Amino acid sequence: MTLAEREELFRRFQEKSPSPQTELEFSSPYTLLVAVVLSAQATDVGVNKATGPLFAVADTPAKIVALGEEKVRDYIKTIGLYRNKAKNVIALSRILLEKHGGEIPRDREALEALPGVGRKTANVVLNVAFGEETMAVDTHIFRLSNRLGLAPGKTPLEVELKLLKRIPKPYMRDAHHWLILHGRYICKARKPDCPRCFVSDLCKFKAKTTAEAAPAPKTKSKAKAKPKARAKSKAKTASKA
Ligand code: SF4
Repeated sequence: MTLAEREELFRRFQEKSPSPQTELEFSSPYTLLVAVVLSAQATDVGVNKATGPLFAVADTPAKIVALGEEKVRDYIKTIGLYRNKAKNVIALSRILLEKHGGEIPRDREALEALPGVGRKTANVVLNVAFGEETMAVDTHIFRLSNRLGLAPGKTPLEVELKLLKRIPKPYMRDAHHWLILHGRYICKARKPDCPRCFVSDLCKFKAKTTAEAAPAPKTKSKAKAKPKARAKSKAKTASKA
C-alpha cells in the first residue's frame, strides 16, 4: 500500500468511528489487565459476562487475592482455560501488590514479567490504559493486515513492527481498535464481507467476495397468488349464488 492509500484508509476508519473503544468492560488499568488476560481464546462478550459479577465484588489486586483462587475460578468458569487463568490472575495480583504497590506498571518489561501477560496483552494495556502508540496484533489484525496489504507478514511480531512503521502517526493511537473492529465485523475470517467493506477499493486481497445474486423478490409470487385467490373466492361466491 502506498502512503497515500494508507492515509486514505485511516481517514475512512476515523470518519466511520471517530473514537473507537475496546469492547472489553473495565473501570481501571487493573480491571483492564485482568479482562485482557481472561480474553485469550475467548470472546469479549463472554469475558464481560464473567467479569461483571467478579469486578462487582473484587476490582483491585488486594480484593482479588482476598477472594482467593477457588472463588475467582467460580466467577470465570464460563471462560475457556479458566483454571489456568484463575491461577494467573491471583499470581499477577500478588506480584502487583508486592512489587508495584498494587498499581499497574507503565512499563513493557514489568508487564510481560506478570504471569499470563505476553507481548500482546502488554500492548493492549499500554495503548488503552496509558494512551501509548502500541499495536497489539491479535488474530483479526494479523488477518486484516495481510489481506489489505497494509503490513503483510508471517508472524504477529513481523506484522506488528510493520504496522508501527506504516500507520500514519496521527492515526496510530486508535489504529488498534479500528483494525480489530473491521476484522471482527466485516473482514471476517471465513468469509470477508467485501461488498459491505468501505475500504475495498484500497484493499489488495485477491479473493474478495462479491454480492450474491439477489433472491427473486417475494412480492412477485404474492402478486401471482392473489389473482388465483381472488378467482377462487369469486368461484365460491358464484357457487353460493
Ligand atoms: S475488501 Fe474484503 S478482504 Fe479487503 S479488507 Fe474489505 S472485507 Fe477484507
